[in-house]
Amino acid sequence: MTFDILYARHETPGCKNVLHFNNAGAALMPKPVLESVIGHLQMEAEIGGSEAAQYSHDVVERVYDSVAMLINCDRDEIAIIENATRAWDMAFYSIPFCPGDRILTSMAEYASNYVAFLQVARKTGAVIEVVPNDEHGQISITALCNAIDDDVKLIAITHVPTNGGLVNPAAAVGKVAREAGILYLLDACQSIGQMPIDVNVIGCDFLSATGRKYLRGPRGTGFLYAKRDSTEQFEPPLLDRHAAQWVAKDRYELLPNARRFENWETNYATKIGLGVAIDYTLKWGIKPIWSRILALSTSLRTQLADIKGVKLWDLGVEQCGIISFTVEGKISRDILQKLFQQNINVSVSTLKSTRLDMEVRGLTELVRASVHYYNSEEEIELFCAKLSSILWD
Ligand SMILES: *Cc1c(COP(=O)(O)O)cnc(C)c1O
Repeated sequence: MTFDILYARHETPGCKNVLHFNNAGAALMPKPVLESVIGHLQMEAEIGGSEAAQYSHDVVERVYDSVAMLINCDRDEIAIIENATRAWDMAFYSIPFCPGDRILTSMAEYASNYVAFLQVARKTGAVIEVVPNDEHGQISITALCNAIDDDVKLIAITHVPTNGGLVNPAAAVGKVAREAGILYLLDACQSIGQMPIDVNVIGCDFLSATGRKYLRGPRGTGFLYAKRDSTEQFEPPLLDRHAAQWVAKDRYELLPNARRFENWETNYATKIGLGVAIDYTLKWGIKPIWSRILALSTSLRTQLADIKGVKLWDLGVEQCGIISFTVEGKISRDILQKLFQQNINVSVSTLKSTRLDMEVRGLTELVRASVHYYNSEEEIELFCAKLSSILWD
């Protein structure tokens, strides 16, 4: 199947205004997503918020089917939450840790997750251990196997880091977790919508994801996958009248499914938009999307490598749509600013978002250029030409 790139761009209003290589920050929404969000908001204004929710009941319910289809699970295993961090938190903070319990994580871990590890370690006496990378810069499966013992309570890693092209071997980690009977929490924030994700292949208990990045959904959306067997064991750290039913004066009952991790009040318009974004992704097909992202990112890396002073920093065996680079003698934030003035969007990853990885490589800042399927070869050429002239003309 060939990709109808012209149509993809036609359905992406932002393509007219900007050259958008900040898909790892927030991708450009396609028209159907935008229209669904605005449509629901309009209905809220016209007939009332509760009434609009009633009217859109089936549409909202179908969002769970869309997520389930995307990652191959049951709709009861999905909680729709306002962002990936909160989704991850709801899973992580549900796990009861005791002094000496070990949390195994990876070098690529995202700041918010690591801060939560630190807080829980301080409060409970659990210990955080970072599994080293292998020679390719991915989490070492050998080192992970060697680290397993009866005290390991949780394996929590990031699939694709926020700061580069690395794709951690999530399924190999899952195999180790399954064989040892250890809980496995995967941060799939950057991989969702970019590459095929099947929770049965990965073998995780929990998976968190965001809507606004490679899924092209609205901001302020995300979800948590909680495997059915795991859900039953865990009580969320926060409850409300939706997560738990007030069944008697002195008693509440948790919802039997993953919705126990959700909130009562939520943004219906963006929730609907998330569902539309997932359906839109599935319409293009996640495999064709992934092939196209791989081709575009390879092309961008190749052309960047030819620009004087550019150094690429992506790790791993198979590298995804996130390209990270520095330029000798130049400040990454200045490069971002100058590109921005030309309507070219990139972002800068700092030490603060992935400290373990950045420190070990002696990095403080990187330019992050992240491509999506609606980007074009022409944009890549233009990007490299503009970058080159910004740097050296
Ligand atoms: C962006 C990101 C997050 C946070 O997602 P939010 O939806 O902003 O909470 C978590 N992990 C990784 C790897 C990310 O890149």
